[in-house]
Amino acid sequence: MDNLTPMMQQYMKIKSQYKDAIIFFRLGDFFEMFFDDAITASKELEITLTQRDCGLDEKAPMCGVPHHVAESYISKLVNKGYKVAICDQLEDPALAKGIVKRDVVKVVTPGTITDSISLDDKTNNFLLSIYLDKFGVGISYVDNSTGEMYTTELLDEEDKCFSFIIDELGKTLPSEILCNDYLLQNNKLLRVIKTKINPFINTYDDKELIEDEIKGAIAKQFKVNNLKRLDIDGKIYSIIATSKLIDYLHSTQKNTLDHINNISFYNPKKYMIMDMNTRANLEILETIKSRDKKGALIGIIDKTKTAMGGRLLKKWLEQPLLDKRSINYRLNIVDYFYNNSMFLDDIRRILNNIYDIERLTSKISNGNCNGRDLISLKNSINNLPNIKKLLDSTDNGDLRKIGNEIDDLKDIYTLIDKSILDDPPISVKEGALIKNGFNTKLDEIRESSLKGKEWLSGLESDEKNKTGIKNLKIGYNRITGYYFEVTKSNLSLVPDYYIRKQTLANSERYYTEELKNMESKILGAEEKSLRMEYEIFQDIRNSVKNEIVRIQNVSKQIAVIDVLSNFALVSKNHNFTRPELNSKGIIQIEGGRHPVVETTIDNNLFVPNDTYLDTSKNMIQIITGPNMAGKSTYMRQVAIITLLAQIGSFVPAEYSNIGIVDRIFTRIGASDNLSQGESTFMVEMNEVSNIIKSATNNSLIILDEVGRGTSTYDGLSIAWAVVEYIAEKVKAKTLFATHYHELTQLQEKLDGVINLTITAEERGNDIVFLRKIVKGSTNRSYGIQVARLAGIHEDIINRATEVLSSIEGSHVLNLNSSPKVNEKQLNLMDYKKDYFIDRIKNIDIDSTTPKEALSILYNLVEDANSLKERA
Ligand code: ADP
Repeated sequence: MDNLTPMMQQYMKIKSQYKDAIIFFRLGDFFEMFFDDAITASKELEITLTQRDCGLDEKAPMCGVPHHVAESYISKLVNKGYKVAICDQLEDPALAKGIVKRDVVKVVTPGTITDSISLDDKTNNFLLSIYLDKFGVGISYVDNSTGEMYTTELLDEEDKCFSFIIDELGKTLPSEILCNDYLLQNNKLLRVIKTKINPFINTYDDKELIEDEIKGAIAKQFKVNNLKRLDIDGKIYSIIATSKLIDYLHSTQKNTLDHINNISFYNPKKYMIMDMNTRANLEILETIKSRDKKGALIGIIDKTKTAMGGRLLKKWLEQPLLDKRSINYRLNIVDYFYNNSMFLDDIRRILNNIYDIERLTSKISNGNCNGRDLISLKNSINNLPNIKKLLDSTDNGDLRKIGNEIDDLKDIYTLIDKSILDDPPISVKEGALIKNGFNTKLDEIRESSLKGKEWLSGLESDEKNKTGIKNLKIGYNRITGYYFEVTKSNLSLVPDYYIRKQTLANSERYYTEELKNMESKILGAEEKSLRMEYEIFQDIRNSVKNEIVRIQNVSKQIAVIDVLSNFALVSKNHNFTRPELNSKGIIQIEGGRHPVVETTIDNNLFVPNDTYLDTSKNMIQIITGPNMAGKSTYMRQVAIITLLAQIGSFVPAEYSNIGIVDRIFTRIGASDNLSQGESTFMVEMNEVSNIIKSATNNSLIILDEVGRGTSTYDGLSIAWAVVEYIAEKVKAKTLFATHYHELTQLQEKLDGVINLTITAEERGNDIVFLRKIVKGSTNRSYGIQVARLAGIHEDIINRATEVLSSIEGSHVLNLNSSPKVNEKQLNLMDYKKDYFIDRIKNIDIDSTTPKEALSILYNLVEDANSLKERA
């Protein structure tokens, strides 16, 4: 260290405090990176790696980017999952004595980044903090780009806390998390977090939690005397998670974070719960295969005009309501918009002009908003009186109330309107920002600089006359200042009092004492005026900063209007109708459609279907029918219609009456989860086990071909037992599609089970799908016909037909007793072998303690023995 140059010593000291970040170290006009940071950044940013003398024998690897374009490079690194610490010069290098003072002014991280290049307008970017111990868990999260902060907690058994964490993470999809050691030590949980969410993970120390300090930090952030005024009061897990979140924000953002001024506590049980698999399976935000918004539900139902509305819609989809009155509140407004087309059009036209003023508040609070941002704010505010007027003109009480409550932010409008020029530059330090007439001092300075310029043009014509040099010109450049320019042919006319400044190829440049005096006056005035403009701008920005909460409130109201009018528009475009709601557990849908699949079917040929589910006689539907008949589509449409109803939207059906459900579960398709080291069947069983454990008699369960991932008899037995269990114990409304036709026998054996089938007609060797769901069952899957449709070679089709008829002739299954496994034994053994290999492969040796290893071994031996006995 001693041999290092002083600057490198300074660098090393700073780096030691930010080990997990890439340091952008300001050197003159560049941000430089050194050592390993340089090697990483040069690769990731595709910039040249050079080296620099650092006082040691070997030079230090180095790479750098010009400071004025650093932001885009920083975003690039952060988007690739790195943290960047910006280390700036804290004093003017020209004035510094010795080495220039430098320090980290901000750490940019995936969960705190606010620049608009990195963020999707309609998606929140959350930083989430978890505090977990043996007795409970607290979760808090913040979007630094909008200022929203939320928290929740659960005091329960460890297992429940784990699912709670996964569910909350699945909902918020944070790009970065903070967690304590207790969580990190749980390998299974950590693995799920990494594979399913893959956030940037930070740890914090929770060894010494001092209650007063923790509460004090929270109270200070939210500007309250004590926590009684906040709704996290008394919720200690939430409080710890929140305090860690605030600590981290301060240590990275290094400013007052005025836009983060409130925290909302919520209880997830007050909303419908969908786990991550259900969200994924219903393809709400993205499709499973291409992870694309197009083809997902959001692609159809998001026609919001503002970024705030887009984000709110996602939030509503994550937290569907359970309370009939709250749902009806939304539906009533949607209904009004729906029935008043002109009003709907007018509102949406105005919403179109409203910029993302919510994200602007974070820029204002961080001090990095420019003149253009304020003009966008002004232009957005300009629409508020119109919105208020329109809302006030309706005969809908709820809309009138929102209209009355919207603050028109007139003072902010007037301030910006009087002060900021309409078309300001990006930079706030180069002038052309403040209007004339706003500040008398600035006006005076501008006047004198203007006068100076007029004086200069007078001087030019005087000198022309005096010297007889007809093409004499006064010019200016930044380095040499003002000068007279005389071309070579006129040099003989140059008078004595001209002093030579510069020689060019075809001309000479001169100045006079008079010109020099004026130059310092003009330049002094210009410099002063730029400085003043910047100061005035900062004052205006600070005045707006004091009103951030008001702007945030307006943003929230605008978002609500946007989403509700959006629902009305989507309903018109896609023929949705208002659902009725009931608390009797009945789901009745007439002419229901899948809102996404129907848009992919040509000529409106999507076949609508009816649904009737209740909690007694029509509780479980066993759905059989050919492959490709539309079973999955039908089941998903029931779930999506229920979901849409509970977020307050109209639904794709001719008529519907939806009994509010507390959870929707889906297990659809045999999606492989090999990246998590689990076999398909294992995943399937995990999910089914979770469903059975968590479902209530108010839940809606959708099971698509459960049991398919194992041998037929294994799978059938499991499917059989699952249906029995749901019918007798859980009593949840369930749709179960299956190719195990034997399950249709359950209709006779269990109360509440009914058989449905989707019709198809055989025409010769081919099959024609009718897509209509009807009572009854089929004992045919038409797999071979579907294979023919798919173009499989005729020889294979013929051979498959032969094999099928010989198999169908040879086995008999008696389901009154437990299924017997005989001729399929071999198959079962094969499966078990794979299962054991899978289990052994999945042991994470590095993280297994000797005690755990013994217990794993014990279980394996025991399972192997029991298999031997059964065989
Ligand atoms: P299954 O689950 O029975 O194998 P899917 O639900 O996956 O069948 O449907 C297969 C395809 O059939 C869908 O991709 C869609 O193109 C079409 N389809 C499904 N339901 C309908 C319907 N009600 N009307 C028209 N086409 C449908």
